Amino acid sequence: EATIYYDEDAQRSQIEDKTVAVLGYGSQGHAHAQNLADSGIDVRVGLKEGSASREAAREDGLEVGTPKEVAAGADIVSVLVPDTIQPTVYEQIEEELEPGNTLQFAHGFNIHYNQINPPEDVDVTMIAPKTPGHLLRRNYENDQGTPALLAIYQDATGEAKEEALAYGQAIGCTRAGVVETTFREETETDLFGEQAVLCGGIASLIKQGYETLVDAGYSPQMAYFECLNEMKLIVDLMYEDGLGGMWDSVSDTAEYGGLTQGDVVIDEHARENMEEVLEAVQDGTFAREWIAENQAGRPSYTQLRQAEKNHEIEAVGAELRALFAWADEETEDEQEKVTA
Ligand code: NDP
Ligand code: MG
Ligand code: MG
Repeated sequence: EATIYYDEDAQRSQIEDKTVAVLGYGSQGHAHAQNLADSGIDVRVGLKEGSASREAAREDGLEVGTPKEVAAGADIVSVLVPDTIQPTVYEQIEEELEPGNTLQFAHGFNIHYNQINPPEDVDVTMIAPKTPGHLLRRNYENDQGTPALLAIYQDATGEAKEEALAYGQAIGCTRAGVVETTFREETETDLFGEQAVLCGGIASLIKQGYETLVDAGYSPQMAYFECLNEMKLIVDLMYEDGLGGMWDSVSDTAEYGGLTQGDVVIDEHARENMEEVLEAVQDGTFAREWIAENQAGRPSYTQLRQAEKNHEIEAVGAELRALFAWADEETEDEQEKVTA
């Protein structure tokens, strides 16, 4: 059972006199930086010279410098540039880390797979909000909380957890609850989830379903509606009330057919495949492959992306989604990039 921390478990004194360097001003970076600033914490944003984000951060009233400049005066360095870029940015700030400083992350990949190896005399912590950054920001402004994960990789000061909780409080996460985990657990479950179930699993499920119907002679438009468009309605029901809420809301026919046929489709082979995917995450095979892919300039990634774009379901979908233009405003938030 994971421990969950709330506002009363965090002490503001653990962060109020500290300076935080937020590296990156994208999804997470803009939200952490603005929430910290509104909580009265001294924040500076670290970005490359000439970076597109610099103007945005300045317009939001924040002080900006290069990653090295802002890390130099900081007690806490929050690393919120894209995961594949973090090792390079870390090299720029490494010599600015002083004993007792903190390296703070929102995902564990680079620490867990040793792509960043911090000195032993700094704290290494994680506060990972469980939503995209724009929701973290909006919830804060609306006096609501955003759940987050907390993990401590290295506790040099003996107060790493207390400070991480205070950071979580300052960005509005302890209002909702901060769940304790480890860098290993967060990284491995995150990678497994996005590969096997969320991004990879669901996309393949949709494509296979679509192709099965189209190959059997049904219209691509019908196949799109049944296999992709309706997915959102079903997922919304699960999100609100779990699997039970979904089963209760669909027809008895859908419930009976779903309960008998679901395991026929996602059978023990699929389960064995999932175990293989998990093993590749656990033994570092996936991480090595992805790091090498980046070092090589992303040749396979570029190809796979293009092939996915070329799938027939995308053309059919673009046409049909135009019919739903009235829904654009409501779904604007959901269209913003989500890192699972
Ligand atoms: P983004 O892709 O949104 O970060 C983009 C930002 O990083 C931009 O401001 C960009 O500036 C800056 N950046 C890019 N390269 C550099 C560089 N070389 N030097 C300095 N700044 C640079 O990242 P996310 O917010 O998605 O992810 C940040 C972290 O948060 C990751 O560890 C991720 O796993 C984690 N996370 C993300 C979630 C999400 O929903 N997005 C959810 C939970 C965790 P420029 O304008 O110059 O391009
Ligand atoms: Mg139906
Ligand atoms: Mg992820």
